[in-house]
Amino acid sequence: LLSPSVLGDLLASQPETAPALILPSSVSLSYGQLVSHVQSLAQELAVPFGQSVALALPNSVELVLAFFAVATLGAINCPLNPGYTQTEFEFYLKDTNPALLLVPQGFMSAHPPPACISAAHKCASAPPRLLSVRPKVSPDSVALVLHTSGTTGRPKAVPLTHGNLLATARNIVNTYALSPADNTYLVQVLFHIHGIVAGVLAPFLSGGRVTLPHKFDPSKTWSEFQRCDCTWITAVPSILQMLLRAPAPDGLRMRFIRSCSSPLSPSTLEQLETRFGVPVLEAYAMTEAAHQMTSNPLPPPNAPRSAWKRKPGSVGIAQGTEIAIYTGSTPAPLGEHGDVCVKSSSVTKGYINNPTANKDAFLPNGFFRTGDRGFLDNNGFLTLVGRNSEIINRGGEKISPIEVDAALLGCSPAIREAVAFAVPDALMGQEVEAAVVVADGEKLNEVTLQGLVGRVLADFKVPKRIHFVEGAIPKGPTGKIQRKNLTELFGRKLV
Ligand code: ATP
Ligand code: MG
Repeated sequence: LLSPSVLGDLLASQPETAPALILPSSVSLSYGQLVSHVQSLAQELAVPFGQSVALALPNSVELVLAFFAVATLGAINCPLNPGYTQTEFEFYLKDTNPALLLVPQGFMSAHPPPACISAAHKCASAPPRLLSVRPKVSPDSVALVLHTSGTTGRPKAVPLTHGNLLATARNIVNTYALSPADNTYLVQVLFHIHGIVAGVLAPFLSGGRVTLPHKFDPSKTWSEFQRCDCTWITAVPSILQMLLRAPAPDGLRMRFIRSCSSPLSPSTLEQLETRFGVPVLEAYAMTEAAHQMTSNPLPPPNAPRSAWKRKPGSVGIAQGTEIAIYTGSTPAPLGEHGDVCVKSSSVTKGYINNPTANKDAFLPNGFFRTGDRGFLDNNGFLTLVGRNSEIINRGGEKISPIEVDAALLGCSPAIREAVAFAVPDALMGQEVEAAVVVADGEKLNEVTLQGLVGRVLADFKVPKRIHFVEGAIPKGPTGKIQRKNLTELFGRKLV
């Protein structure tokens, strides 16, 4: 089979009768059926080449079909979180300027349309035109515009081409040896690059199946996973934490678990591997690189756990990309901490309407600054110590918040979540604090916990205050830890 160079050819490059999209409580769709639904939807949408289509849809068959229909037209997908507030919709719609907005039925009556979408609404009610000529879509045509998660600042608009997306999808297929025998259970949202690329594009590129649950429900995930014959799952660590404690039937035919998009602590990795008996492979990704940059390697089938080459606490090795550590614009010596940079055919050409960010992001030799700090070992394994803006600077001493999180999570099985962050301090400039969630019914106080982490962390890294949070630590819509929010929440009280 020829490898597709544009997304419009992706589905058609698979055998027509092969199952593609598995719907646990409905009829599943083959590749051939997907192709014909995508074709008719594309004809109905008839959006001109290069125009944007905002997709404010929950994970659904409709969203998958719309994504491929828009890409087939050479138009640009702009997936938006359907849960956004009016103000958020206004920001994203203004920034993406869509010709068309797709929403679930009944959505408009519940949401008074923001001023900026009246044009989009008009366009949607125009009569459909038939496509007579196939638009000239090339690997360099933009297929997707996504905003970064906004973890460190205002979200930035990232254009990704057909070529960028297929490059990263191919890297993922190679990393995990995905094949037509595989079936992924999709829990990640499709308005974030993780779900789109690892959850849909890579599985379809390998000719495998994607199981699309009606709704993510950890209490049903593993039974549905087994009933639909799934073989792997990819998710953010907070979802994996929930799945770690969820009921599961015996005899899952799982090959591996992939964790990505936020730090996975070695203790969570260890608990997942012990419970499920499969390798847990942490990967590192960002919107600007069309998702994956590195991953821990997949062990050969049936290799014993002692032979698994994944490195807990590390995000693994470059996978079809180049990774380098820089200090300013000079490469750092091996093992030294510095700015993590990436070069890959999956990396965006640059942010939209943001010359300042673009100037800061690209080195003259084409490497892209991720904004993360980390170091490489002599086997090429990358360890992240935190985002540049989140490294805690305590009187000149740099502290990795990821290291503090991992120490807290590892010091007692009663700790469900732990997030370290900087707070302003009159003497030190910044001081370390942390928020933790303790399992129901477990008792742990600040002093005990400080004592426990003090066994693995030097004194200056031990959080000066530990805040006990009920339920869950607030995260962003894509499941990411937002340390700056915790600084705001707890740090302000101090000064
Ligand atoms: P913004 O750029 O707007 O601040 P964001 O960086 O969170 O938001 P994304 O593109 O969704 O937006 O996330 C990419 C970032 O996620 C990476 O730069 C890195 O900081 C973090 N990340 C991804 N995978 C991992 C991982 N395995 N471990 C630690 N951090 C990770
Ligand atoms: Mg970022």
